Amino acid sequence: GTWPTTIPGAAKAAAETWPDATGLIVGEKTWTFAQVWADARAAASAMLASGIRNGDRIAIWAPNTREWILAALGAQTVGATIVPMNTRFKGTEAAEILRRARVKILFAPADFLGQDYAQLIASEDLPDLGETVHLDKGWEAFVSRGNGAQDPEVDAALARLTGDHICDIIFTSGTTGKPKGALTAHRQAVQIFGDWAVRVDLRAGDRYLIVNPFFHTFGYKAGWAVCFTRGATILPMPVFDVAETIRQIEHNRISFLPGPPTIYQSLLQELDGGKARDFSSLRVAVTGAAPVAPALVERMRHELGMQNIVNGYGMTECGAVAMTCRGDDAETVANTCGYPLPGMEVRCVDDEGNDLPAGQPGELWLRGPSVMKGYLDDPVATAEAIDGEGWLHTGDIGTIDARGYLRITDRKKDMFISGGFNVYPAEVESLIATHPEVNMVAVIGTPDERLGEVGRAYVVTRPGSSLREDELLQWSRKRMANYKVPRSIRIVPELPRNAAGKVLKTELRD
Ligand code: ATP
Ligand code: MG
Repeated sequence: GTWPTTIPGAAKAAAETWPDATGLIVGEKTWTFAQVWADARAAASAMLASGIRNGDRIAIWAPNTREWILAALGAQTVGATIVPMNTRFKGTEAAEILRRARVKILFAPADFLGQDYAQLIASEDLPDLGETVHLDKGWEAFVSRGNGAQDPEVDAALARLTGDHICDIIFTSGTTGKPKGALTAHRQAVQIFGDWAVRVDLRAGDRYLIVNPFFHTFGYKAGWAVCFTRGATILPMPVFDVAETIRQIEHNRISFLPGPPTIYQSLLQELDGGKARDFSSLRVAVTGAAPVAPALVERMRHELGMQNIVNGYGMTECGAVAMTCRGDDAETVANTCGYPLPGMEVRCVDDEGNDLPAGQPGELWLRGPSVMKGYLDDPVATAEAIDGEGWLHTGDIGTIDARGYLRITDRKKDMFISGGFNVYPAEVESLIATHPEVNMVAVIGTPDERLGEVGRAYVVTRPGSSLREDELLQWSRKRMANYKVPRSIRIVPELPRNAAGKVLKTELRD
């Protein structure tokens, strides 16, 4: 048949192409692709019975579980949009998103890490929210409201669903300001993450351990959703845990393990001098959003047996953008975030929007299938982000080398000019971070009468360290050009961070 253009369409196609292959594994239970799709259809019927219609929004605020996937597929099948929410949100953060997205039903656990999520928003004023369904204890009761997997209304809904329907609203991490809700259509998600899966060589029969949270694109669209396009088995992990990861790799013969660089570090550390492990099934790793040391790439290849390691660049407003490729050398994987996915165009421009020559840093502009439809209820911010010709102005500064590979230097908002020189805090931070007693560091620009702006570093030292501010300043002066050296250093107990774990420089500036 025709290639699917929606996420439920991909799940249906998987059920038709590989009906008896294992689609999902949770604990000792397994489900075939045919069963997963039947369960998603039953969930869709229950959505209809609960009043969810085309264009409505439901939110899912839960760890990675089978029910998360079924709630998402069920809602999307009837033309509704899902709003995934960060499990680390406090009640007020969650309520703000539920209000802004006018969510009708919230799916949340009755018990996750000892917390009933419904209780967290109980005192909030949420006029559009009809009910909260417990995604753990209440799931079977919810499904039983519907008419089951054979409900003809579900077929009717599927016949109306098109690639132009909005599949999700994902809120940005809120690193540079208030989180913004980015709207994406099904067609975009299926195309770009389908191409993502080809670039990373996800195959039928692969076993994909999903440690990235489902509320993030990495765990959801580049996570369980792509498994349907390739016939790979989904193994959701509710909370990352190194011992459980090792158990899963050995017990379930995991072949595909994407995640932040820290998870591979934890695995290597756990292996070091420990008992012999069988990691021979591991084949592919996908990382991103943070720099990876070339040495780590080499160790992952030699000690974990991961032959295909790719690094990538993406953002909420633009799904997946660029990735390295299997066969790229460790330096390329570590130091670049690859070349654009099919159909994606990238430009590197100066402040006037003129293209810069290869290797020269400028703002990255993106155009192509993965650029969002726009921000939720914010035409002004949308027009600022996407120009009349469809270019998304990322606000990230980077370079494009002669081969077309991208490198992210820093965010435009974080760069500052000191005595006429551009200072990229990310570069200064990575230099200071090499000090053996430094645990974390964030650099911001602060006003200065003579130089315009000068740097200030906030540093968290390692436990037990007696490193002094003036010592670190002196150490820094020996290692970087004068204009890059922060004028002052403050040793602090911790740095303000958002739910995604990124440092909130706006708070440091205040
Ligand atoms: P907000 O837009 O609300 O301030 P945010 O930009 O942190 O938050 P996300 O969309 O989750 O929210 O993050 C995307 C950003 O992460 C990119 O714009 C870029 O700055 C950074 N990023 C992503 N991938 C990489 C990478 N491979 N290397 C360096 N930075 C990256
Ligand atoms: Mg952003």
